Amino acid sequence: MRVLFLGSGTSFGVPVIGCGCRVCASADPRDSRYRASVLIQSGAAGSETSIVIDSGPEFRLQALRARITRLDALLLTHAHADHVGGLDDVRPLTHEVELPVYGNAPTLAETRERFGYIFRDTQEGGGKPRVELRDPGAGAFRVGSIELLPIPVLHGALPILGWRAGSFAYITDCSELPEPSYRLLEGVETLVVNGLRRQPHSTHFSLGQGIAAARRIGAKRTWLTHMNHESTHEELEEYCASLGADVGARPAYDGLELEA
Ligand SMILES: [Zn+2]
Ligand SMILES: [Zn+2]
Ligand SMILES: [Zn+2]
Repeated sequence: MRVLFLGSGTSFGVPVIGCGCRVCASADPRDSRYRASVLIQSGAAGSETSIVIDSGPEFRLQALRARITRLDALLLTHAHADHVGGLDDVRPLTHEVELPVYGNAPTLAETRERFGYIFRDTQEGGGKPRVELRDPGAGAFRVGSIELLPIPVLHGALPILGWRAGSFAYITDCSELPEPSYRLLEGVETLVVNGLRRQPHSTHFSLGQGIAAARRIGAKRTWLTHMNHESTHEELEEYCASLGADVGARPAYDGLELEA
């Protein structure tokens, strides 16, 4: 399975509008972070299964950059603007088939509210994406050749989802992993987990908390995502190595590609 980072930034993205800090002004392309998202692909080119996790405000730019030509499913972690803001831009990928969009009940309810026009009868030629919201419930399900397992996580008080596919798991906007979810993550080797910054935050793991969760899960390779503009990529490399060499902790960056 191939995993491509479409974005690795927190809700503002990096650079932040109006900010002239050294990270926002950095010339290192790895210091530019679109809103957090990944593309997962499995199978031979031409007949592969393609899944995107989260469609933030840069979805169109991300899809063009990654040359996405078709999608089998969109998985949502939750319905905050930085994770669903680009939902309308899946439209060109839904001409031939409806795109299944998976999320938990609160996420689907909020998506329906934020994008009310998509789900209302409107005049012909209104130009709407054809999406079908699906709540997968608690168990594993399959999209093409990829078996997926929703992982309940807490984002402050909000129940949201992480997603597992084989020995790969993607968790973002987590501030607490409920006990039963650790069991659902047993055997995960490659983990993507959010780490906002060095200091704690009320609704997001810090870098250290993300790494501590990876350690408890027993991950062999840990990629931090949803990062803000506090540190450059190089500084994050050093910080992650100092805290989490045992779980292979490293900062992700836009365009990073993994085999998982
Ligand atoms: Zn977020
Ligand atoms: Zn900045
Ligand atoms: Zn959020």
